[in-house]
Amino acid sequence: MPVLDSRIVTYSPAYTLVPTYECFNRCTYCNFRAEPGKSPWLTLTDAQNKLRTFQDQGVCEILILSGEVHPHSSRRQGWFQRIYDISELALSLGFLSHTNAGPLSYEEMAQLKTVNVSMGLMLEQLTPRLLQTVHRHAPSKIPELRLQQLEWAGKLKIPFTTGLLLGIGETQEDWWDTLDAIANLHSCYGHIQEVILQPHSPGSQQTWDAPAFNPHQLPEVIAKARQILPSDITIQIPPNLVPDANWLLACLDAGARDLGGIGPKDEVNPDYPHPNYQELNKIMEPARWNLVPRLPVYPQYDQWLTQRLQIAVERWRKAIG
Ligand code: SF4
Repeated sequence: MPVLDSRIVTYSPAYTLVPTYECFNRCTYCNFRAEPGKSPWLTLTDAQNKLRTFQDQGVCEILILSGEVHPHSSRRQGWFQRIYDISELALSLGFLSHTNAGPLSYEEMAQLKTVNVSMGLMLEQLTPRLLQTVHRHAPSKIPELRLQQLEWAGKLKIPFTTGLLLGIGETQEDWWDTLDAIANLHSCYGHIQEVILQPHSPGSQQTWDAPAFNPHQLPEVIAKARQILPSDITIQIPPNLVPDANWLLACLDAGARDLGGIGPKDEVNPDYPHPNYQELNKIMEPARWNLVPRLPVYPQYDQWLTQRLQIAVERWRKAIG
C-alpha cells in the first residue's frame, strides 16, 4: 500500500512491443492506429531480435500494446495467438509481460493471465455521450463493455491497470463518475493496482482538431481522485505529457506516485518522447523525491500469479528491489 507522505515515486523500466497497429476502431484522437490489413503483424523472430537487445539492460516490463482485430473477424484467433506467443516469448527471455490489447473475451483474458503478470485497459470515460463524438466509430469504447472487462479481470484475479483519458469532450462530473466506478469495482475485487490520469495531448496523426487538456488542471484532478480512490490504488501520470517540471512536481504534491512505463518510445503518443531516468531525476531530486524502479505487478498481487510467473517476479524483486 503506498504511503502518501513518503517521498517515493515509482516508474517501470519498460519496452513496448506492438503486435499490430491495425485497429477496427476509429477514435478521432488516435495517433496509433492503421487501417485493418495495412499493418504487418510483428513476427516472433522480429520480437525476439528486439527483445534480445534489451536483455541485461535493466528493462523489466514488456508492454504488449496492440490495435484490435474485430472479435468476429476470421483473423481474430491468429491475432490473439500472436499476442499470447509474444507474451510467452518475453517471459521465456526473462522479462515480465503486461498486455493491453483492448476488450477481450473472458477466455482470452484467462489465457493471457498465464503469461502476463498484469494487464490493462483504459476505462477512459464512462459517459455515453462520447459515442456521438470522438467514439462515434469506435465500438470498443462502449462504456459497459469496458466496465465488464474490469469486472472480468477482478473475477479472474488479474492485477489490473486502468485510467481516464482527460479532455476528450467530457465534463468534470464525468471524471468523478468514472473514478467512482473504478473505486466500486475495486471494492468488490481488490484488483486495480493503478489508475492513469492521461491528459489528451494532440498528435500529428489524429483527425480530431481539439486543444490539449490543460496540464495545470491535473493537480486538482489528482487531489480529487486521491479522495475518491481507495488508498491501495496508485495514481499514475505520464511525465512526457506534463512537460512543465513545476507542474509535474505539483502533480506529485497532489498525490500522484507513479510515472508509468519509461522506455524508448511512447507508442500511444509518439509526438511526445519519454524523458529518460536522468532527466526525470534532475527534476525529482532537488525536490527531495526519490525516483525508484518498480515491477509491472505490485507486491500485494504476487500470490495471484501462477507459480511460473511468481518465480520470474521474485527474480526481479531481488534484482531491483
Ligand atoms: S485509440 Fe485505441 S481503440 Fe481507438 S482507434 Fe486508436 S488504437 Fe484503436
